[in-house]
Amino acid sequence: MRAMPLADAASTPDPLAPSPATPKRGAVVVTCMDARIDPLAVLGLALGDAHVLRNAGAVVTDDVLRSIALSQRVFATRTVYVMAHTDCGVRAAGLISELDEHVRRAAGRIRRHTALPYRDDVRGCVLDVETGAVRMVDGA
Ligand SMILES: [Zn+2]
Repeated sequence: MRAMPLADAASTPDPLAPSPATPKRGAVVVTCMDARIDPLAVLGLALGDAHVLRNAGAVVTDDVLRSIALSQRVFATRTVYVMAHTDCGVRAAGLISELDEHVRRAAGRIRRHTALPYRDDVRGCVLDVETGAVRMVDGA
């Protein structure tokens, strides 16, 4: 094999270098689609810090699990936040359980999903949409 001239080496992308799309804080946030939530701001994150997965009720669906797997495998994320919130319309419709229990179940589903390479740092929390305070959920 012929040695690569240095000029060519400098212009060749490093396959081990992080992608510019890699979340800088290595996090994935699963939260509700509620229009009052700015998930990055309430968690003290900025644009580019995390992947954000949103649906009605912050439910950990099969699609959410696939997205977390891709985020971890391709973009090297390690921390997963599951953030439900007070005054959730989905909960009012009776489609999710009591908030803390919903968060515990959602976080547990992520931890039990063996297709995810990283399941040790899953954090469950509830956002109070009135005050903007985020409370960690015990046992989540
Ligand atoms: Zn909601």
